[in-house]
Amino acid sequence: MQCTRCGLDVPDDASFCMSCGLRIETPSTIRRPEDIDLDWVLKCMVSIGYDGEITEIEGPKFITARHEKHPNLIVELRSNVGLVVPRLYYPSVSGADLSNIEFLRAVNSFNATSLWWTGWVADDSDFGANTEIALGTTMSEARFTQLLSNALDGFFGNVESSGLVPFLR
Ligand SMILES: [Zn+2]
Repeated sequence: MQCTRCGLDVPDDASFCMSCGLRIETPSTIRRPEDIDLDWVLKCMVSIGYDGEITEIEGPKFITARHEKHPNLIVELRSNVGLVVPRLYYPSVSGADLSNIEFLRAVNSFNATSLWWTGWVADDSDFGANTEIALGTTMSEARFTQLLSNALDGFFGNVESSGLVPFLR
């Protein structure tokens, strides 16, 4: 099998090109939405620096994931509508110059990545935000990981450019 970027001959079971680092897509990394589960989503998240586990409190399972630089993320898989929904909360921390309106305005404005985030006030002290990643007819690990990265970059860039300080949680 040849790397589609640099042309190197790579073993058939390679995940990455040894020369240029491109993630190699094989039939085993491309899935139909109905074949995607939370383990698959979590594996993609781990590849961009998240550490997480699949949790079930009440109702459907979801992923809770931590990242060194980003707020914790909750990720739901809505198989029936072919969506992965990353969600996060920003706690309102005393000393931080935050107001609900500022935060929601920043979150709800359009991101350059073409992915909308929607923000809301979760309770008296927390702000929530979520977006949706459509799985389409097929989805590969590389593409999903790229979409998730873009969504997060867009979100954090958007919020940070507004002057709001992100919190880890
Ligand atoms: Zn290559």
